[in-house]
Amino acid sequence: MDTFRYLPGVATLKLDPEPCIGCGMCSTVCPHGVFEVEKGEKATIIAHDLCMECGACATNCPVKAISVTPGVGCASYIIQVWLKGKEAADCGPDCC
Ligand code: SF4
Ligand code: SF4
Repeated sequence: MDTFRYLPGVATLKLDPEPCIGCGMCSTVCPHGVFEVEKGEKATIIAHDLCMECGACATNCPVKAISVTPGVGCASYIIQVWLKGKEAADCGPDCC
């Protein structure tokens, strides 16, 4: 997965370490290994550009320490907005 990248620096993913309780859920649900959570430590983002903005981490974080705008960096968005000239992407419920 190290060779797979979306556009560098554009993912909306943000982690607020303050409320993090180190449960590891974000690391468990992330399909791209974006987070690292050492035992007894808070989560850290180790691969920000691998984030596909699926939203699974933010949805499953019990203390709302993660924010991400789902779909903004996904392939559908790029195709619809950049290549087809639409103002916004309509990814639909099954996207990503
Ligand atoms: S939004 Fe999805 S891909 Fe991005 S860090 Fe969260 S779980 Fe991983
Ligand atoms: S899911 Fe939330 S609380 Fe748990 S380790 Fe990740 S950021 Fe911290």
